[in-house]
Amino acid sequence: MAHVFCVANQKGGVGKTTTSVNLAAALHQAGKRTLLVDLDPQGNATMGSGIDKRELTHSVYHLLVGLAELEAVKVESPSGSYDVLPANRDLAGAEIELVNLERREKRLREALAARDADYDFVLIDCPPSLSLLTLNGLCSAHGVIIPMQCEYFALEGLSDLVNSIKKVHANFNRDLKIIGLLRVMFDPRITLQQQVSAQLESHFGNKVFSAVVPRNIRLAEAPSHGMPGVVFDRSSRGAQAYLAFAAELIARIKTL
Ligand code: ADP
Ligand code: MG
Repeated sequence: MAHVFCVANQKGGVGKTTTSVNLAAALHQAGKRTLLVDLDPQGNATMGSGIDKRELTHSVYHLLVGLAELEAVKVESPSGSYDVLPANRDLAGAEIELVNLERREKRLREALAARDADYDFVLIDCPPSLSLLTLNGLCSAHGVIIPMQCEYFALEGLSDLVNSIKKVHANFNRDLKIIGLLRVMFDPRITLQQQVSAQLESHFGNKVFSAVVPRNIRLAEAPSHGMPGVVFDRSSRGAQAYLAFAAELIARIKTL
């Protein structure tokens, strides 16, 4: 059975896509059969995996509205070698079309269930909102990975997300839990970041991953080359942090 994890945070620009893409590549390198689902109409996870979002014949949109099967949508990342269900602007339309469909929040779950045996891990890169797309992600998942920056309002934003996860758990998906919080774009020279990081640890205890992803320019450069950071420059500090994170995640799921 595949472990299905959403990478979610309702804020934009907090490192969801960077985390999704690098984790997918790192899991693949660790020998895990991995599928990355791009659930954001911006298609950044698609492009960052080296797949041109403007040239897709099928995308996650087609999967969600029932116009294509998973097999017809999936593409292998040329740089990372994991499978991708790619997305582009079309997906923004799914939001509206889904409203009128039956089991609208379970469309992704049902599509993934058909190929569950093919993967060890399915990672879902969510858009920065608590929309019907994100709801489809959360209804499909066993757990949520929350990337966050250690900034002043981070804890406040986190409680909104935790409440939404609780609601989805209560109403739609009893399997859903928070797998962990990942500190990203971390700069240890900034005192405030150290303070917020310590607060996170005292609040959430072992839900906070030990791996910490530093602010690292190589991670930001990698997408313009269509590569995950762990492929683009494996020895960079950012890549090493994501490799450590993947190892930690593999160890953590054994204890779930
Ligand atoms: P989200 O998917 O939450 O909107 P992204 O992963 O796209 O966030 O990250 C936002 C921006 O920050 C991108 O330009 C990305 O390249 C950059 N970025 C993400 N993580 C890091 C990091 N650890 N160090 C430096 N830049 C990063
Ligand atoms: Mg993103």
